[in-house]
Amino acid sequence: MAVDAVVIGAGPNGLVAATLLARAGWSVEVHERSAVAGGAVGSETTARGYVHDWGSAFYGVLHTSPVLRELGLDRRVRWARTGTAAATVWDPGGPGAVVRRSVDATADGLGEDAAAWCALVDWWHRLGAPLFDAALGPVGDPLPLLRVLRRTAGPREVVQTARTMLEPVEAYVRQGFRTDAARLLLAANATHADVGIDAAGSTPPALLLAMAAQVHGMPVPVGGAASLATGMVEAAEEAGVVVRTGVDVTRVVVRGGRAVGVVSADGTGTAVRRAVVADVAPTLLARDLVGEQHLPGAWLASLRRHRYTSGYFRLDVDLDRPAPWADERVGDSVVVHVTGDLDDIAMSQAEVRRGRLPTSPQLIVGQQDRADPSRVPPGAASLWVECHCPAVPVDAPADWAGAFAERLLDRLEAHAPGLRAHVVDTAATPPLGLQERDPNLVGGDVGGGSAAPDQLVVFRPVAGWSSYALPVAGLWMCGAASHPGGGVHGLCGRNAARAVLRRERLSLRAVR
Ligand SMILES: Cc1cc2nc3c(=O)[nH]c(=O)nc-3n(C[C@H](O)[C@H](O)[C@H](O)COP(=O)(O)OP(=O)(O)OC[C@H]3O[C@@H](n4cnc5c(N)ncnc54)[C@H](O)[C@@H]3O)c2cc1C
Repeated sequence: MAVDAVVIGAGPNGLVAATLLARAGWSVEVHERSAVAGGAVGSETTARGYVHDWGSAFYGVLHTSPVLRELGLDRRVRWARTGTAAATVWDPGGPGAVVRRSVDATADGLGEDAAAWCALVDWWHRLGAPLFDAALGPVGDPLPLLRVLRRTAGPREVVQTARTMLEPVEAYVRQGFRTDAARLLLAANATHADVGIDAAGSTPPALLLAMAAQVHGMPVPVGGAASLATGMVEAAEEAGVVVRTGVDVTRVVVRGGRAVGVVSADGTGTAVRRAVVADVAPTLLARDLVGEQHLPGAWLASLRRHRYTSGYFRLDVDLDRPAPWADERVGDSVVVHVTGDLDDIAMSQAEVRRGRLPTSPQLIVGQQDRADPSRVPPGAASLWVECHCPAVPVDAPADWAGAFAERLLDRLEAHAPGLRAHVVDTAATPPLGLQERDPNLVGGDVGGGSAAPDQLVVFRPVAGWSSYALPVAGLWMCGAASHPGGGVHGLCGRNAARAVLRRERLSLRAVR
């Protein structure tokens, strides 16, 4: 039986797109290759009773997105926070810097940068948040941009803000703050993306993550990331979507230049009346599912320029007690950035870009169980650790992962002396292990392609093709490789669904 739309892939973007199409009255099926829906939003419980989020872990950015309320994720999911949303500790192991729930408490810890931090938060509420809303919405939508313009003090502030958005975050923090504490508290957030702190375009991700932590407190779902996936599936099913797991789509059927159905690995076909929407990395979609013979050469040539970035290395460290951080204020922080100074971050990022294992890895450490004790046995704790590294390092033997995990543990131990004595178990997943779990994570790239300025907005994922349409009628993309990019915010899916529905309205009008 034909349906109006098939969404390929039940990642957050696929589920959001499916929900919005179904709410518009379409019959929608989601076909997901894995046994569970959620994409890189999932968790598993170990034999010892520790809950590991295998992919994403913190949802501050989701809390800045309209999707949170539109899908009812604010009420379907129980969110947990602590008094400290984020922290940075840096070598040689002195006191760190923390983002507390109240702005004044954060500022108190930043000494002579207290006023600068408060001014940044004020700027965020006045201009930053609406600016990011506009930037992450559909490309070229004039209304949100006009709203931002109305909030500026005039043309000079517009130009100044545009410059800030292009400025390397290292330059931004050196100019804006005097203490290492404030500089590193902000700049370490840039290590979540792939853009070097000394490169244009590294300021926006750092600002977004730091302000999400300050304003929303870095919430985690009670029970593990899987609870968020369950909430998203619930919203989709409530709208009438049929979510089918264990269905690996191997082909998009194109007839007469139009996508008319999908075929899965077991040979089953599903006919589609209106749209095939793919939450699939565009390179895989073009090569494996659609077939390059159906796509124009110029579009394929542009697609070949889409750059994936370095991967993530994941390490779970299960402990028999909370980590013995040298700086006790870090103890209840949901996220801890473990770094050196600004030079250390820049050099480490450069090593990774050149395909080398970082000598001093920039660690992003999650302590979700500080907010949600149900994730660990009583009195125990677990560290969710990740850092950027190449999928296939040029400077390491084939079995590098074990030694690299030890390097991460050494760095943790330097800031939490005695940690190793409390390790109950560790589990490492190198970048290609992430790709094995979810093929969208190409080479372990968690954001669907580099977030460098030449890959954003009108350039994403193919220059001139940021409207989610593909050059095959009825075929759309909605994954993190499309605008506005990686992260669990659902905006690629939301923007894509709206684009599909707008195109449908326009063609109906043309027929009448
Ligand atoms: C280790 C890690 C840590 C992260 N940390 C965070 C974080 O803390 N906070 C945050 O906001 N973001 C984080 N992210 C990023 C975030 O998870 C991703 O950007 C987001 O999940 C992208 O959503 P998506 O829907 O585009 O794709 P995905 O989540 O990748 O989902 C795509 C889905 O499509 C399915 N699929 C692909 N091909 C097919 C096919 N042919 N047939 C059927 N199904 C198919 C896949 O199995 C998958 O389920 C992290 C990601 C990883 C991996």
